[in-house]
Amino acid sequence: MKQTQFNFSRRTFLKTAAAATAFPEIAIAEPSGREPLRELPYASVQLTGGPFKQHYDAIHAHYLALDNDRLLKVYRQRAGLPAPGADMGGWYDLNGFVPGHALGQYISGLARIGSSTGDHACHQKVHDLVSGFGATLGPENQSILRPPPNPKPNLWPCYILDKHFVGLIDAATLSNVAEARGLLDRVLEGAKPLLPEKGRDRIGKKKPPYDETYVMPENLFTAHEVTGNPVFRELAIRYLLDRELFDPLSRNQDPFPGQHAYSHAIALSSAGKAYLALGDAKYKTAIQSAFTLLTTQQQYASGGWGPNETFITPHRGELYDSLSTTVDHFETPCGSYAATKLARYLLRFTADSRQASQYGDNLERVLFNTILAAKAPDSNGDYFYYSTYSPSAEKVYYPSKWPCCSGTLVQTVADYPVNIYFQAADHNGVYVNLYTPSQAELKVGSAAVQITQETEYPAKDTIALHIRPAHPTRFTVHLRIPAWLTQAAVIAVNGKPAAVVASPGTFAAVTRTWHAGDRIDLTLPQSFRTEAIDEQHPETVALMRGPVMYVALNPANNLSKDRLALPGSLKPLASQAFTENYGGHQVIFVPFYQVQNDTYTTYFNRA
Ligand SMILES: [Zn+2]
Repeated sequence: MKQTQFNFSRRTFLKTAAAATAFPEIAIAEPSGREPLRELPYASVQLTGGPFKQHYDAIHAHYLALDNDRLLKVYRQRAGLPAPGADMGGWYDLNGFVPGHALGQYISGLARIGSSTGDHACHQKVHDLVSGFGATLGPENQSILRPPPNPKPNLWPCYILDKHFVGLIDAATLSNVAEARGLLDRVLEGAKPLLPEKGRDRIGKKKPPYDETYVMPENLFTAHEVTGNPVFRELAIRYLLDRELFDPLSRNQDPFPGQHAYSHAIALSSAGKAYLALGDAKYKTAIQSAFTLLTTQQQYASGGWGPNETFITPHRGELYDSLSTTVDHFETPCGSYAATKLARYLLRFTADSRQASQYGDNLERVLFNTILAAKAPDSNGDYFYYSTYSPSAEKVYYPSKWPCCSGTLVQTVADYPVNIYFQAADHNGVYVNLYTPSQAELKVGSAAVQITQETEYPAKDTIALHIRPAHPTRFTVHLRIPAWLTQAAVIAVNGKPAAVVASPGTFAAVTRTWHAGDRIDLTLPQSFRTEAIDEQHPETVALMRGPVMYVALNPANNLSKDRLALPGSLKPLASQAFTENYGGHQVIFVPFYQVQNDTYTTYFNRA
């Protein structure tokens, strides 16, 4: 996302932050200190190979191939315009669950992919969809949100507006669609009569109201930066979910049990953005504490959470219970969108090597085992929704076409490039957070620096980084050393061992005067380990190798009941395939992200 511009005086910060909350003590961070690490712009990073690039290319092609007339049909119908093309089906149509809901997310994802790849076809499609959407706004500027003659109870204005905003923001800032800025103001104008006076929490997964005011502040803050329209900022502050979510989190209380999982997890991005925009440290503390709660109490080994879309009550063995009571374990594209954005906000807020490494480790876990593991969509609106972790499972499509996860799939995958590198705000260093073939350009000190990463990780343990400053420049390359290592990481510079500390669970700092052609070789020896599903069931484990969750392929029915000698008895079979002799036949273990159509088992009983 665009780097934040800070145009407000300190007094304005204090005033608005005070108005935003009844919390008596507000710690205001100076703008310069809020974000010690910065994301690189999409345009500065390209994927060049490996599993993320393969997934990214497939998603790029899939969304580029969606038919514009079909995507705009329900918008045109509601505007009384000619509406050629076939119905989309599922959630998306006039009588669907949430008509037209994901259009803004498709626009957003295509703009992000266009920005990183330079693909003109993406930008053209973004332009055409924005222009087609603009033509449906009408005199009330409400487009599809115009209340129908007989209002249906499930018209979700905030849910859909949030997606319109993000699509228009990305179209304006990443695809240079000039019309999009003006449309942001018009959509806001049209939204005013539809928006509730106060923010409200969603009551639940099954009970209305579904509409989620609290998912909007992140994009409202950004829309204010893009347009300068102060109403966006006022609304952003109004809809922050302080009382129910951020206040308890900042006081170290746990507001999650029983809450709808995705909408509250994505609301954490709004707190991240609120910290950047307002400087109130409450929001930073809140998402730091949310990260701890999610990763220590809610999370499966994959990095997913929220069985049946609901956060569990911890310490009761509910994650274990979920293996036999549901197959809806993690709402994958939506949940991974929330989890990856949360981790990136947290990385941006700290230069502490241990903290940052923790966020980076979990980001890597979520990327490999949730979004990368999503079943590929088909061409007719069938999308992957829930990851299933119960025995002998299959990856299946959601029963309704064009669900919410079709919108977050393209956005999460489009964000792959911005997870890889971060830049120190003082321009004195670069952080390599994700190991995957890629290239990046950034400014370090006064020099333009190009970084190229070559690796077959996680299939292999070695990573090569080529550093090319425009002229010799002294700076630090920070390398994430994962906490799961059981053998020492090895770092060499230009073929010679580097004298740097590389403790697991930190970023190792390699500082020198870099010359064009310098090379870093990093070895991260991956080994197998098991992770228990929860503290009540230490013998029920998932199999991990480095950041990657392995599952048993086409398992025998009783595999999950018998006891396996994991991980000690595993033998290599092929690259990223391992086998254990079980009851006279071979059980094959492969990364969960490689499974498409086979059945698989995720959790086992340890011998
Ligand atoms: Zn979803």
